Amino acid sequence: MALYEFRCAGCGYVIARHFPISERPEFLECPKCGEEMKRVITSPHVIYRGNGWGKDYKTNSG
Ligand SMILES: [Zn+2]
Repeated sequence: MALYEFRCAGCGYVIARHFPISERPEFLECPKCGEEMKRVITSPHVIYRGNGWGKDYKTNSG
């Protein structure tokens, strides 16, 4: 399963749904206004590793 986001072209409503990898619908019907919802490109496996950036870089201006 993969998570896909869809954004409505009409009202801007965003929805996230799980679909099998083999089944990737490009469009959904907006539950709010009935307009077409376009699939938004998402990165399902993005891992944010906070901290650890620039720890060794100290700016000594003096
Ligand atoms: Zn809508």
